[in-house]
Amino acid sequence: MKHSLRNRLSLSYIVIAMICVLLISIIANLSLESQFRAYVNNNQEKRNESLISLISQQYHKGEGWDQEVVRDIGINALENGMIISVSDSEDRVVWDATQYNNGMCEQMITHMTLNMTSRYPNWKGEFTTSNYPLINGTEKVGSVVIGYYGPFYFNEIDMAFINTLNKVLIGVGILSLVLALIFGYMMAKSISTPVSRVINTAEMISRGCYDDRSNEISDINEIAQLTGTVNNLAETLEKQEKLRKRLTSDVAHELRTPLATLQSHIEAMIDGIWEADSKRLKSVHEEITRLGRMVGDLERLTRLESERMALDRSEFDISELTKSILVNFENECKNKSIEVAMEDKPVRIFADRDKISQVIINLMSNAVKFTGEGGNIRFTIDDNEDDAVISISDNGIGISGEDQPHIFERFYRADTSRCRLTGGSGIGLTIAKAIIEAHKGTINVESRIGEGTKFTIRLPRI
Ligand code: ADP
Repeated sequence: MKHSLRNRLSLSYIVIAMICVLLISIIANLSLESQFRAYVNNNQEKRNESLISLISQQYHKGEGWDQEVVRDIGINALENGMIISVSDSEDRVVWDATQYNNGMCEQMITHMTLNMTSRYPNWKGEFTTSNYPLINGTEKVGSVVIGYYGPFYFNEIDMAFINTLNKVLIGVGILSLVLALIFGYMMAKSISTPVSRVINTAEMISRGCYDDRSNEISDINEIAQLTGTVNNLAETLEKQEKLRKRLTSDVAHELRTPLATLQSHIEAMIDGIWEADSKRLKSVHEEITRLGRMVGDLERLTRLESERMALDRSEFDISELTKSILVNFENECKNKSIEVAMEDKPVRIFADRDKISQVIINLMSNAVKFTGEGGNIRFTIDDNEDDAVISISDNGIGISGEDQPHIFERFYRADTSRCRLTGGSGIGLTIAKAIIEAHKGTINVESRIGEGTKFTIRLPRI
C-alpha cells in the first residue's frame, strides 16, 4: 500500500513523540520512585531515631519513667503510623499502643495495606517491628519496639505527590503529541507541497507541454535540485522537439526543389523531349552527388546537435594539426593557383582533435571554394593568456553584411544559385560553430563583398 509523503511524515513525527514520551515517563517513574522510596526509608529511620531519643529523655534517675509524657509520645507516634511499645530495664511494659487502643492499631494497619495495594496490586509489604534499647546517659533504661509498615510506606501526602507527578507526565505527553502533530503536519506540508508541484510540472512535461517550468523556490537542497533537474529536462526536451521539427521542415524544404528538378529532367529524357546525352546525365549525376553530400552533412550535424556533444579531448599543437590538414588541399589550390600562407607558432590546446580538424577542413574548403583563380588564403595561429586564436582569411568573393548574421544557420547559403554551382549544402559552418561552442569557444566572421572574408576562432586552451 502506498502512502502519501505528508501522511508518512506526520505519522513518523507522532510515533517518535509517543516513543519519547513513553520512554521519559517510564524512566522518570522508575528513577523517581526508587529515589522516593530511599527518601521515605531514610525518613522512617530518622523518625525512629528522634522517637527513641525523645522516649529516652522521659526516664528520670531516681524517679523512673514519666508515664504521662511517654503515653503522649506513643499516641502521637500512633497518629503518625507507628505502633510502639516501651518497656523498662526489667522488661515491664511502660506503655503499649495495642494495649492503649488495639482497634485503632488494627484499623491503621488495614488502612496502610489498602493504601499500598491500591498503588501496587502485587504489594508484598507487611507490618514490621524493630527493637531498640533506650539509653539515658550511659545507662540502659529500657527498650522500645517500634512497629511500622515495611519495607516502605507511602502516606497520603507521598501518594498525592506521586499522583501529581504522573498527572504532569501525562499532561506533558499529551502536549508533546499535539505539538508533534502540528509541527509534523507543517513540516510534512512544507516538503510535500513543493514536491507535488514539481510532480505536476513533470506530468505536464510528460504530456508534451515542454514550455512548462517549475518556479518552486525551496531552501531544501534536494527539492531545489529536483526542480532544477525537471526544468533542465524540460529545456532539453523542448530543444530536442524544436530541433526535430526544424530538421523535418528543413530537410523537406531542401530536398523538395532538387528532387523536383531531377524528376522533371529525367521525365523529360524518358518522354524523349530531351536527349539523354552525357552532358545532361552528368548534371543529373552531380545533383544526386550533392544531395548525397547534403544527407551526409545533415547526419553529422544531427548527431552533433542531438547528443550532448561528447568531446574526446587530448593535448595537441593546433599549428601542427593545421599544417597537416593543408597538405590535403595542396592539389586543389595548385589547380586554382591559390597561394596559401601561414603565420604561426606552436600553440598547445586541450581539445577534441578530430572535431577541431573538421572545423579547419570546413573553413579551408569554403575559402578555396569562394576564392577565385590566383587568390590568397592566409592562416594565423596565435595565443593569449587563456585562448588559442586561429584566423583564416581569403581575398575571395566575400559575404554581404545582410548575409553575415545567417551564415552559421543550417542550410543558409549566401547566394543559392552560386552555391548550387559550388555544391555547398549550407551546413559546414553550422557544424563548425556547434563544435567550437561545445569547446566553449567562439567563431566570428568579418567580410566585405568582393574583398574577402576572415573567420576568427577563439578556443580556451584548457
Ligand atoms: P556551404 O556548404 O554552402 O559552404 P557553409 O555553412 O560552409 O555551407 O557556408 C554557408 C555560406 O556562407 C556559404 O554558402 C557561403 O555563401 C558563405 N561562405 C562561407 N565561407 C565563405 C567564404 N570564405 N567566402 C565567401 N562566402 C562564404
